[in-house]
Amino acid sequence: MSASLARHARAQLAEIAGQGRIRRRRVIDSGHGVAVTVDGVSAVNFCNNDYLGLAAHADVAEALAEAARRLGSGSAASQMVTGHNAEHAALETELAAWVGRERALVFSTGYAVNLGTIEALVGRGDHVIADARNHASLIDGARLSGASKHIYAHGDAEAAAARLAGAVDGHRLLVTDSIFSMDGDTAPLAALAGAAATHDGWLMVDDAHGLGVFGPGGAGRVAEAGLGADRVPILTATLGKAAGVAGAFVAGDHDVIELLLQRTRSLIFSTAMPPAVAAAARTGVAIARQDETRRRHLHALIARFRANLRAGDLPLAASDSPIQPVIVGAEDDALALSEALADRGFLVGAIRPPTVAPGTSRLRITLTAAHTVDQVDALCQALCAAWQACGIADTRVAS
Ligand SMILES: *Cc1c(COP(=O)(O)O)cnc(C)c1O
Repeated sequence: MSASLARHARAQLAEIAGQGRIRRRRVIDSGHGVAVTVDGVSAVNFCNNDYLGLAAHADVAEALAEAARRLGSGSAASQMVTGHNAEHAALETELAAWVGRERALVFSTGYAVNLGTIEALVGRGDHVIADARNHASLIDGARLSGASKHIYAHGDAEAAAARLAGAVDGHRLLVTDSIFSMDGDTAPLAALAGAAATHDGWLMVDDAHGLGVFGPGGAGRVAEAGLGADRVPILTATLGKAAGVAGAFVAGDHDVIELLLQRTRSLIFSTAMPPAVAAAARTGVAIARQDETRRRHLHALIARFRANLRAGDLPLAASDSPIQPVIVGAEDDALALSEALADRGFLVGAIRPPTVAPGTSRLRITLTAAHTVDQVDALCQALCAAWQACGIADTRVAS
């Protein structure tokens, strides 16, 4: 290997280690539902995004297996060449119907959707107006596009309007998560749509954490807010979270989607998702649309979790979503809590800088329809005990 590359890698790793920010992947040697085996030890998983409990659902897995037997394992080409299967086409039609848009376009990942869509829609001389806590894929899309970036304070629609008003010449793309991935809170979608309308901005909302969880038939947080394509012309979401599979899509009016099909490099120059994955996603989507029982159970667990934390005098985030962060503050404390919970059989991720701002390290707890009330209660008990054992209550009072 090149000596300078070896030196560079070692120096960079030493820097990351010096900050105590080396990340390690756990090996899950089971399926990825609620009951997981981690490095040989069984645990209850409270840090996945499988909000409706479909990632280990027998019907979805069977759809994948059946389609793989019928269609094989790969799509073998870009969508634009010969990779676009009837399963993809049907999935796109069903997704468009679900979220109430004329048309949808399926990609392999949500990261690719957001990156590619922003880059395809705006460029040099245009403007991207973005929430300060947007997902990395939205930030990276704005960077890649070459448009001027205008960041507004998190969740502040008035600040967004001011940025829109100040962005003269060129197009204005206003971009936000619906539900923010590290905080679980929701963007002021109606107010943002109003600001976009006033200043001729194009509103793009990433409903990754809202789809399947909120809205009529689980159509998402944008649908729940009653915002159609006239107000949110660009809607994206992943199929790797509540839909329980993988892949993602952008939805909108016919011409916008056709333009994206012609222009989006992350779609054109990428192998289409395997058709069997599209078939599995169709089954996941069908269940997510129909199964109100799952959705009701999830929302009951969210309410129960919050009531438990309130009773234990632990800090509550402003979140009605399955993402329920417990803000700890110091990185070491977040890690210690995560480890204490692991000792009690609960898998909960500690989120630290640079993913979140310094001083806001947290546990990111996610609830799913596959959890039971007893599991949520047990987690809360363990969390309260660990919180006291780690002495965090004291630092919180002091700060
Ligand atoms: C997970 C996530 C994505 C990325 O979707 P993938 O399909 O996992 O690549 C995009 N946006 C948000 C807000 C997310 O949470």
